[in-house]
Amino acid sequence: MKAVRMHGYGGIEQLFYEDAAEPRIAEPNDVIVKLKAAAINHIDIWNRLGQTGQIFEIPHILGADGAGIVVEVGAKVTNLKPGDAVCLYPPTGCGQCEFCLTGNDWMCIRLRVLGERLEGTYAEFVRLPAENCFPIPAGYSFEEAAAFPLVFVTLWRMLITNAKLKPGETVLIIGIGGGVASASLQVAKRLGAHVMVTSSSDEKLERAKQLGADHAVNHRKRDFVEAVNELTKQRGVDLVVDCVGGEVWRKSLASLTRGGRLVTCGATAGGQPDDDIAAIFSKHLTIYGSTLGSREEFRQLLSFLTVSRIKPIIDSVFPLRDAASAQHRVETAQQFGKVVLRIPN
Ligand SMILES: [Zn+2]
Repeated sequence: MKAVRMHGYGGIEQLFYEDAAEPRIAEPNDVIVKLKAAAINHIDIWNRLGQTGQIFEIPHILGADGAGIVVEVGAKVTNLKPGDAVCLYPPTGCGQCEFCLTGNDWMCIRLRVLGERLEGTYAEFVRLPAENCFPIPAGYSFEEAAAFPLVFVTLWRMLITNAKLKPGETVLIIGIGGGVASASLQVAKRLGAHVMVTSSSDEKLERAKQLGADHAVNHRKRDFVEAVNELTKQRGVDLVVDCVGGEVWRKSLASLTRGGRLVTCGATAGGQPDDDIAAIFSKHLTIYGSTLGSREEFRQLLSFLTVSRIKPIIDSVFPLRDAASAQHRVETAQQFGKVVLRIPN
């Protein structure tokens, strides 16, 4: 099959479009999916750079997100058959550690995620457990079905399970171009929140307004804490979505009202920010860190996407062979929404 494989840790020059062995059923609950689309996530880039630890053998196929058609099922698979169109839930646990045994297998100490300890989706075929395949939401194309799983299940856990976002609350989303940020805007607006967004790009802020953002602040031109204070009459916001970190982190904390919550699932601008511990305890703040989410959260999310008719925002679609260019677009933060790979038949 054709695949894009990385041949070493480093820049996009390590990615090669080439022939690779087709995956075979190895366990009785495995399935093989012929992929139609995959999507780029920051985690792919961190894995390529070796920033997540060198956790897989080289050459390696990246990619956590994908959608396609089941072509082969293992002997014990009863919920799927060849021909089923599926989207993919990326993580799977060992089934034996304390987290797996208590239904929290996405927190497994030996977690296997597509594109990390499992071969990923930048390929014509992928092998994965049958319980990681879900029906595609009604009306979704394969590109849309590949674009939503990782970012939406992540934000669902952050906003709904952890921060318990309520209608009428004020939300500040930092760096609105990113996949999680733009999807958070869609979900928060649908839930009836009052949403403010930041970016250094007027073009991205304009797109966010078209998607329903109530206020947009260009943080290169204006201090967003000042803007938050003005808009909330010095109160601050209830919830900040900050997957940027770095220099922004301290301002995110300063933007929160008393009892406010901050959710984070990444730090694209730096993971060792200048912190403000006094703000955390004196304002009674709660910080929720998370990655991914559970199968139950994924199931809730699929139901919500069907009812709300929300679709992921697709920034651009590249052919599989151009995965390096697609990653470059995300690595240099040029995108608004998801960068998708179309996988030829
Ligand atoms: Zn486990």
